Amino acid sequence: MLTQEIIGVPPQTCPCCHHALEPDPLVGRLTNWQRRWTHRLGHRLDQEHFAQIAAAGPGCPGRTLSGTVLAAVSLLVMLGLLVLAGTGALFLVQGALPLKMVGLILLALAVQLRPRLGRVSRVRESYDEIRRDRAPALFALIDRTADRVGAPRPHHVLLESE
Ligand SMILES: [Zn+2]
Repeated sequence: MLTQEIIGVPPQTCPCCHHALEPDPLVGRLTNWQRRWTHRLGHRLDQEHFAQIAAAGPGCPGRTLSGTVLAAVSLLVMLGLLVLAGTGALFLVQGALPLKMVGLILLALAVQLRPRLGRVSRVRESYDEIRRDRAPALFALIDRTADRVGAPRPHHVLLESE
């Protein structure tokens, strides 16, 4: 839609999401068709998702099959990592020199593959943190909302300029 902006004609956009609706002459027919199709599909999926959330009402989502499978796979990955580190440590302590080298490699691999949970301080750097004593009304609203949906109250509230 760059060409229309250059000649001063406002491009026709979707009133919901401001997605450009007119075909872009700079790309092919297939790409334009694909863009229209993904736009319609996105709106349909949004409406279905909204209907599901609205029907369920406020509250925490229950245990789902995908959540259970994810927890099981995560547990297996963690167990594999512990076995890797344990085997490496055992080889390093009790093995002959070649086995000690293998143990060192296994331990190094386990260290490289360890879970990285991240730090809040790194995320906080690019935002303004609002403290409870500076914005009691905002925190009261956040606490009421969290209590109503059964979610834990947030420890940090970060704001950005947008
Ligand atoms: Zn739209």
